Amino acid sequence: MKKYDMMIIGAGPAGLTAALYAARYKINFLVVGKIPGGLVTETHKICNFPSYEDIGGLELSQKMVEQVKKLNVEIKPEEVKDIKKSKTGFEVITNKDNYFVKKIIFATGSERKKLEIAREKELVGKGVSYCATCDATFYKDKVASVVGGSDAALTAASLLSKFAKKVYVIYRKEKFFRGEKILMEEVKNNRNIEPIFNSKITKLIGKDKLEAIELNGKKTLKVDGLFIEVGSSPNIELAESVGVQIEKKQIVVCDFQRTSVKGFFAAGDVTNNPLKQIITACGEGATAANSVYRGLMKER
Ligand SMILES: Cc1cc2nc3c(=O)[nH]c(=O)nc-3n(C[C@H](O)[C@H](O)[C@H](O)COP(=O)(O)OP(=O)(O)OC[C@H]3O[C@@H](n4cnc5c(N)ncnc54)[C@H](O)[C@@H]3O)c2cc1C
Repeated sequence: MKKYDMMIIGAGPAGLTAALYAARYKINFLVVGKIPGGLVTETHKICNFPSYEDIGGLELSQKMVEQVKKLNVEIKPEEVKDIKKSKTGFEVITNKDNYFVKKIIFATGSERKKLEIAREKELVGKGVSYCATCDATFYKDKVASVVGGSDAALTAASLLSKFAKKVYVIYRKEKFFRGEKILMEEVKNNRNIEPIFNSKITKLIGKDKLEAIELNGKKTLKVDGLFIEVGSSPNIELAESVGVQIEKKQIVVCDFQRTSVKGFFAAGDVTNNPLKQIITACGEGATAANSVYRGLMKER
């Protein structure tokens, strides 16, 4: 079995930044990530990452991967299938190999839930978005819509209302009940926001970009943008299997990205940090690598 002091699971912004720091600390480690670059490879345009006014998601993720590879870091495009905890570390089983590592930085990200409607994929970046924090500014003086009724949907609507002239919130139930009270009040009292209850989006309309949505197979609503906020699922199952504390389907991290299991750190979209962004994932990755480094030094 191959042995390392540390394994980074996940090769998105969190995992790659952890790798950047770990390489400079000369830690004996490797990165295992199904998709090198992570979720950023799928994003259209990034306008909130310092130093780039505007950069394509694929380009940014490639730059991150290249920077890490230049430091001779091994990135294995493997899938971790199982993790077994022992007294001295963790056995990690991937689809190709078995490893023994003393410490883990777990940075497996999350999957945004899709609406599962025709043309959804094709219109991403052309009016359809999964991230209001990232794309709200593109809707200045335009008409935006949000689908969903959770905190995330209400937060997205509130943020969009600062830019868009009108924001519709489409929700399949008869009223909001899942969100925080304060958010529900804010949405109710915001003149820019109009909830549309008991409604399901049945069609996305528009030739080269989104122009309207169809509700309940009848009514057509003209919109420039649709923000899909129907939930996300952090990839936490492997962490859960070694007994890491989970709350609201997210890994609970305390100071320095520690989890409830000794030697197991987490960073990025899998954690309970509410701001799920590239910059926060990078920051958490860097902190996690520093924690591992300090831990290894103490043990020597
Ligand atoms: C449509 C969209 C647009 C966005 N736009 C922006 C934006 O403009 N600005 C911004 O800051 N943020 C944006 N985000 C959010 C940003 O993409 C995430 O916050 C960021 O990618 C999180 O990084 P991460 O490293 O935690 O996870 P991810 O990027 O999701 O990376 C997770 C990594 O873990 C790997 N992995 C998962 N499971 C396993 C396993 N079992 N074994 C091995 N590897 C595994 C994956 O393959 C991947 O390499 C956007 C998100 C979406 C969906």
